Amino acid sequence: MSLQSELLTIIKDVPDFPKQGVIFKDINPLLRDPLVMKKVISQMADYARLINIQHIIGIESRGFFFGIPLALELNLPFIAARKKGKLPGSVISESYALEYGTDCIEIQSSALKKGDRYLIIDDVIATGGTASATAKIVNKSGAIVAGFSFLIELTFLNGKDLLLKDNENAQIQSL
Ligand code: AMP
Repeated sequence: MSLQSELLTIIKDVPDFPKQGVIFKDINPLLRDPLVMKKVISQMADYARLINIQHIIGIESRGFFFGIPLALELNLPFIAARKKGKLPGSVISESYALEYGTDCIEIQSSALKKGDRYLIIDDVIATGGTASATAKIVNKSGAIVAGFSFLIELTFLNGKDLLLKDNENAQIQSL
């Protein structure tokens, strides 16, 4: 069975969670399966090697589940992109629109090195708003977004287009 088929079997669609109308992708059964998790990290690592990166940014919180094992596999630094107010010291912030209201994501300034190449990782890309805001932080610092990696892409929301608008040279992987 291909990894894609395994993921389609193991990741559960939960209708109307956390609210009416949303089909939530429950990745917890994947986290409980070390064999499939290892295959996921291995495919992400193959892709990351090709795009020649020096840092991995995981988006709070489910991006951490994939970003940390990937960083360890590649022997690269892991950087947490966190919701507003969670990181001490100097941070670079970016606000982005939600369906209702706004949210804000932050990265510590000391983690961003001008000219270095970064991979941004999360579990799901939906509208692309969260990953796009994270990329804006990297771009503001003078560092380079070399690529994005997602476990799941909700293709009908066209999040990729939003990412490519500001990062036309970036690669996008979704398993
Ligand atoms: P977006 O900014 O619209 O691309 O949404 C991406 C963020 O929301 C990611 O951090 C996901 O974890 C979460 N997310 C969005 N839609 C879903 C979904 N259907 N199932 C699970 N998580 C989702």
